[in-house]
Amino acid sequence: MRLLLASSEVHPYSKSGGLADMVAALAKALGRAGHQVGLVTPLYRGIRARFPQMQRLDYFLEVPLGNQRVQCEVWTLQPSEGLTIYFIDRPEFYDRSGLYLEGASDYADNAHRFIFFAKCVAHLARYLTWQPELVHVHDWQAGLVPLLMKHQRQQDGWATMPKSCLTIHNLAYQGNFSRAEYALTNLPLDYFHLHGAEFFGQLCCLKAGINYADLLTTVSPRYAREITTVEYGCGLDPALRARQSSLVGILNGVDYDEWNTTSNPSLKFSYSSKDVSGKAENKAALQAELGLPVDAAAPLFGSITRLADQKGVDIQLGALEEMLASNMQFALLGSGSAEFERAYQSLARRHPGKVSVTLGYNQGLSHRIEAGSDFFLMPSRFEPCGLNQMYSQRYGTLPIVRVTGGLDDSVTDLTEDERRANGIKFQEYSVRALGKAVRKALVLYESKPLLREMQLNAMQLDYSWERTAHAYVEVFQGTLKAGR
Ligand code: ADP
Repeated sequence: MRLLLASSEVHPYSKSGGLADMVAALAKALGRAGHQVGLVTPLYRGIRARFPQMQRLDYFLEVPLGNQRVQCEVWTLQPSEGLTIYFIDRPEFYDRSGLYLEGASDYADNAHRFIFFAKCVAHLARYLTWQPELVHVHDWQAGLVPLLMKHQRQQDGWATMPKSCLTIHNLAYQGNFSRAEYALTNLPLDYFHLHGAEFFGQLCCLKAGINYADLLTTVSPRYAREITTVEYGCGLDPALRARQSSLVGILNGVDYDEWNTTSNPSLKFSYSSKDVSGKAENKAALQAELGLPVDAAAPLFGSITRLADQKGVDIQLGALEEMLASNMQFALLGSGSAEFERAYQSLARRHPGKVSVTLGYNQGLSHRIEAGSDFFLMPSRFEPCGLNQMYSQRYGTLPIVRVTGGLDDSVTDLTEDERRANGIKFQEYSVRALGKAVRKALVLYESKPLLREMQLNAMQLDYSWERTAHAYVEVFQGTLKAGR
């Protein structure tokens, strides 16, 4: 299959969250499986310096953007078998310190930046000599691509137009812009209506993708069901219900080349399900690194997260406030809302020797927290898939999760299956319910044989990308076979 993917972030070039990990791993796995894969992404600041082997494509790309014509250069890189990355180089838009925002506010010209990006993707879909059969776009930043392609076909004919698939990684981020900014798409107003790209009088890039892509996927089966409901639909549930027969949930995989405990440059001690002893050494090293007392008897709870409402920060703070009187330690790595950052700093000040808070983004430390913790907290309000709970499982760190989205699909609680349990789940979004789950973890920590059994269950789970990529190939094939 010839596939063109498009994403506003791709690990290791750019990353703000799980999207970057997912797209990079999917593209790699599809290439390895023998498909021809292109991946379009913006050339943000610093990428060229970090990857000097990149080559400029001898290709002229210019698209209309409202009343201007805007050009860019395209750089390519072949990081693995079967995969070519196309970087869109427009310094005015992408040579900035952030991907989408600076400080706490979105860039004022994000409509320009990502409508332009979507247009470049649609352009490449048409003119790349290898003619992709299917264009797979991710999230709102590329959400307009299926509509732009459809319109091009209507305008000037495009017999070989690829089919399209939109993957929704998080319905809460929709790419809503003013009606005036719709002019940047250069599309007629025919598409600006309730069943098109319009959402409460605004342009909604994600809704355009939902209404015009041939196939819709999201990153876990449970989230695929949830987003068709009023509770989780973020206002787009009617559009999703209308397209329910084209909507599939596929659980993300884990890139075990990167997220493993046996050959990991970020970890001092390696370990595996066959010999777990190195885990205790990693825990001691982490406690020392974070300035916590080196104490094997104190269960260590880790958390690596965007500090955003979605992640259940408020109930986590509340439950910790109650639980920290017990013999336990807590280590946070996160960044995000200033209010939440202050709340965690205050928690650390009030519980010296028990709480470590690292604000900022630190890939190496994220591996060490995954490896050194005994439990991993993920009390999300909603969670499309979540990757950290699956990373934790491979690292023998039992995830404590709320029953939502991919957390429910990837974690098994003792009450569900005693023999296969690999984490702790709770239902209600409340301090009380999370506190109870933490208490269960404290009891479990004292029951070493059961703890060890659950750790081994978790470490032996296999969420490898080959399986996930295969599931995508199957739905792509179905879409290619179906008529328009
Ligand atoms: P989301 O995409 O909603 O942020 P996921 O669990 O799907 O949540 O993915 C988050 C990814 O970002 C993981 O790879 C996680 O380790 C990483 N991450 C989040 N915050 C940080 C941080 N402060 N430092 C390092 N990595 C982080």
